[in-house]
Order: sequence, then structure tokens, then C-alpha cells
Amino acid sequence: SEQRSRMAKALFTPIAISSHCRTRDSRYCSRATPENRNKTDHSVLRHLTSKIKSTGPISVAEYMREVLTNPVSGYYVNHDMLGPDGDFITSPEISQIFGELLGIWCVSEWMAAGRPKQFQLVEFGPGRGSLMSDILRVFSQLSAPLGGAEMSCHLVEVSPRLSKLQAQCLTGDQSQVSTNEDDPVYRRGTTTTGLPIYWYRRISDVPQGFSIFLAHEFFDALPIHIFQKTEKGWREVMVDVHPETEDKLRFVLLPSATLASSTLLQTDEKRRHVEVCPEGGVLIQQLACRIVEDGGAALIMDYGHDGVKTDTFRGFKAHKIHDVLAEPGTADLTADVDFSYLRRVAGDRVTCIGPISQRAFLKNMGIDTRLQVLLRHCQDPSNQAQLIQGYDILTNPEKMGERFQFFTLLNHRRKGPAPLPVAGFSELCLR
Ligand code: SAH
Repeated sequence: SEQRSRMAKALFTPIAISSHCRTRDSRYCSRATPENRNKTDHSVLRHLTSKIKSTGPISVAEYMREVLTNPVSGYYVNHDMLGPDGDFITSPEISQIFGELLGIWCVSEWMAAGRPKQFQLVEFGPGRGSLMSDILRVFSQLSAPLGGAEMSCHLVEVSPRLSKLQAQCLTGDQSQVSTNEDDPVYRRGTTTTGLPIYWYRRISDVPQGFSIFLAHEFFDALPIHIFQKTEKGWREVMVDVHPETEDKLRFVLLPSATLASSTLLQTDEKRRHVEVCPEGGVLIQQLACRIVEDGGAALIMDYGHDGVKTDTFRGFKAHKIHDVLAEPGTADLTADVDFSYLRRVAGDRVTCIGPISQRAFLKNMGIDTRLQVLLRHCQDPSNQAQLIQGYDILTNPEKMGERFQFFTLLNHRRKGPAPLPVAGFSELCLR
């Protein structure tokens, strides 16, 4: 069988993907370079090379899944990637204004839906819990308009380690871990603002009911397949062990079509190099079903494009671009979200709006006014400077303003003969 696998490998075409030298359209990176990083751990690489040696090259999707969410060695399972020694920084960590405006968005969507009695707030991949914490602060300040709603908080998080950080942030350590491994709720508690809060591993575990779903820098972490157009048709890009250096990985092209290459691509695809995220597609379909059946909305916020970009798979380590195949498990892996794909799989049972830029969304939500209010109430010049700097990073087109995108899935009932404007997606709604 070793000979067969060697022969099979000889058929794969090695290809170079320039993932280590892409800076132009990359994630926003702060200039901090943490010094005290853990020493490199080779267990993920060892696990991957032995797997590839026994069964052959793996898809990029399988590579991403193993590297990011393997229950033992996965990057998210072992890292606090947003902490002081982290690898990247995200909007909720940059400024409290971000979460506050999203809190207002959630309330506005709940009101537009006719103020249903039950109100579930669901967040996917909440990181350190900062976004949810800022939203909950807004909710507690808006207790009068929200009065009477039965509110609850639901977090979908694969990493037990991050769920603990989230619980510290949101409940002040008032949470309990389930002792039964089969329990879909693996942690529960009460938020510091008095709401019931639950942690799950996947969306199917979240109870049905009117929900506002939030996903911030979540879809970009879901595994992608990569395809390349060749003279013989579409072929899938795979990850293989380097033939000369056993502890190095390289990309190769599969010699023949696969189920993935024949089912995941559009027949009229114009690009020659395409990334597809079927897990993201399945999640969108689940969200669309729930929104149709129970009402609600989903807001997806991510680095992304509308079906035009080709090569966005990359790694981040200590706030710098990192070769996606080097030292797997020690760096974050991400691929820009293809919103045209999400819109297509959502189908026409729901209304999709966007993507629009973070700058446009936050301006529509009143970020300029909010900044002025905060500045007026804040005496300390260094806090003022921090507020202004945060505003700049979020909205400046050269920073996150244009690269970061907002996309929403809504219940059709909003559509009617005179469709209601949707907060954040049109300027009108705040007037
Ligand atoms: N939303 C946060 C964190 C983004 S990092 C922020 O913007 O700051 C991605 C988050 O998604 C982490 O919390 C990670 O543990 C979680 N995650 C990644 N893949 C996941 C999956 N397949 N299922 C559930 N959670 C996942």
C-alpha cells in the first residue's frame, strides 16, 4: 500500500499558493508583537503527517478543521487568540461602540418583528465575550422598551477553554459546567445583567424560537475547499507531506475530479481559482429555516467579498501574516467569506441584504453621534484618544472600514408592499 500511495503522490501536481506574502487585503493587524509566546508545539504537524502518510493527501477543509478545532490540539481549543499575547484583534475588542451599536441593531430588529414575547440572542464563536457583554449592557439600559420580553442568551462555542473566558466576562464566574457529556448545554449560568445564558457546541442544540443570530469573525474560520481550473477541468487543491522534508507540508493538485469538485462549483464560474465553504453554506441553510419558521434575523460580519476574490486563505500569528502550512496549530487560519455563495444557498425563502462595508453600516447606525456623546462624558484625555483611535480603526477605509463586511438574513414578513428599512443597511432608519 505504501507503493500505491507513493505512486498516487507522484500523480499530484505540487502547486504554490502565495499565502505567506499577501498583505494588501489582509486582516487588520495591530502593531503589537507579543514576546512571550508558547514554544512551538509539533503535535498537530505529527498528527497530520501520519494521517496523510496512511491515507493520502487531505482537502484544505479537512486541514483547516484539524488545525483549528481538533478537540485535543486545535488552535481555538488551546489558545486565547484575542488576548494580550494573541494573534489578531477584532472590532469588539477595539471599541465598546461596536457592541453598543449592534445591541441597538438587535433591539431594532426585534421591534420590527412586532416585539415577540420570546427573544433569544444567539452568538456564534463569541471569542472573549466582549461583543455580547457590550450588547447586554445596552439591553439593560433599554429595559423600558424591552419590558416584558422573555430574553435569553445562547452561545455556540466549540472551545471549552474560550467558553470559560466568556463565562468569566459575562457571568462574573456564576456558571456551571454540565457533568453529563451528552448534555447539549455544556455550560449554563446567569449573566451579570440577570439573563439566563447557555453554551452549546452546534446550532442544532439551540432551542427553536424567535432569535437574533450574530456571527462576528466566525464564518471566516469555517473550513474551505479550494479548487483550481485546469485544462482537464476543475481540480481540488489538497495538502500533502513534502516529498523531501518529512516535517513540511505542501499543496498539491488532485489528478482527477472529486465529489467536491463536481458538486460545489457553479457551472458558469468565471474565476480560475475558487474557495468554497460548504459548512458555511449548511449553517446558512439552518439559519434560513429557523428564520422562516420562528422569525428573527441573522447578522454576519466578516472579511469577505461578493464572489469575486480568488485567493484569500491565510494564517495569522502574533499580528502578522503566517504561512498557512507552517507550524499548524500555532496560528489562526482564515479565508474571506464569499457572500454571493451564502446568498445563493440561503434561497429565496428569506431576504438577504448586503454585503455592505463596516464603515457604511456603523455610520448608518449612528457611530458619529455615539462617539461625540462618549467624548463629552469622558474627561480623561487618554481615554478620549483611545475612543478616537478605535473609531478610526473601525471606519477608516484604509483600516477595517471597507474590508470588513456586513450581511443580513431576514424574515420575508418584513418585505410587504412598502418594505421597512433595515437598521444599518439604509441611512433612513435612524432619521
Ligand atoms: N467573535 C469573536 C471571536 C472570533 S474567533 C470576535 O470577533 O472577537 C472565532 C470564534 O469562533 C472562536 O470563539 C472560536 O472558538 C469559535 N469557533 C471556531 N470554529 C467553530 C465551530 N466550528 N463551532 C463553534 N465555534 C467555533
